[in-house]
Amino acid sequence: MARLDITTIDHGSARTHLVHTDYVNWVILQDDDGVTLVDGGYPGQADAVAESLRRVGSDLSEVQAALLTHAHVDHLGGLARIGRTRSFPIYADPAEVAHARREYLEQADASTIAPIAHRPRVMRWLAGVVRLGVLDKTGIGDAQPLVDPSVLPGRPVAVPTPGHTRGHSAFLVGDGEALISGDALISGHPTVKRRGPQCLGHVFTHDEAANAESVAALRDLDAVILMPGHGPMLCGRLSTFVDQALA
Ligand SMILES: [Zn+2]
Repeated sequence: MARLDITTIDHGSARTHLVHTDYVNWVILQDDDGVTLVDGGYPGQADAVAESLRRVGSDLSEVQAALLTHAHVDHLGGLARIGRTRSFPIYADPAEVAHARREYLEQADASTIAPIAHRPRVMRWLAGVVRLGVLDKTGIGDAQPLVDPSVLPGRPVAVPTPGHTRGHSAFLVGDGEALISGDALISGHPTVKRRGPQCLGHVFTHDEAANAESVAALRDLDAVILMPGHGPMLCGRLSTFVDQALA
C-alpha cells in the first residue's frame, strides 16, 4: 500500500489523527462515543481509509458520521465508494451539499489543467491521481446539510471558509487547539515545489479572492496546530501561517 502517515494529537478525552498520504489528507476524530471522519481521500483510497481506521484501533463500524471540508473528488471520492456499504451519514456545509450530490461540479477539469499539464510535477501528479480515480464523477446522493457537528465524536466546530469551493468549511477540534483547514489553507501540494503555508492556485480554486478573505479571517483563531487537506501538519501560530500564505 502507498504511504500512509498518521500523526496523533491527544486532547485528553479525545484524539485527532491526521492521515497524510502522497496526494491528500483526511482526519479521524476519535473519542469514547466513536469516530468522526473528516474527508476520505480519492475513490481509490477507500481501502486506505479503512486501513487508517484499523491503525488507530478502530474500524468502519465505529464511524458515527463523516464531514466534508468540500466536495472535490480527492476529499469525497473515498467516502462515496465506502458509501455503497456504509451506515453513517455524510454532512457538508449547506452551501456544499448540492455539490456533494453532484448536482453541479465545481472542480478543475481537463480544460483548466491543460495549460499547466506539461510541467513535470503536474504530469507525475496526473499519472498518480488518474490511478486513484480523479475522473470519477460519482457523488454522494444522500449528503446532508451540516447543522451542529459538536454533537459528534471529537466535538468538531465548523468554520465556514468559502472560496476554494462555495461551501468549503474548516473545522476546529480539541476545544480550538487544532484547525482542520481542508483546501482553504494547505502546507504543500504535489503540483508545486513550494512548502509551507499556502493557498492553492486558480486552477484548483473556485474563487481565489473569496478564499483569501476566508483565510485572512482565520487569523483570529487561537489554534496552534494546522491540519491541512494537502501537505504535512504544522505547529505554530495560525496568524503566522495566514500571513505566509497570503504574502
Ligand atoms: Zn484537495
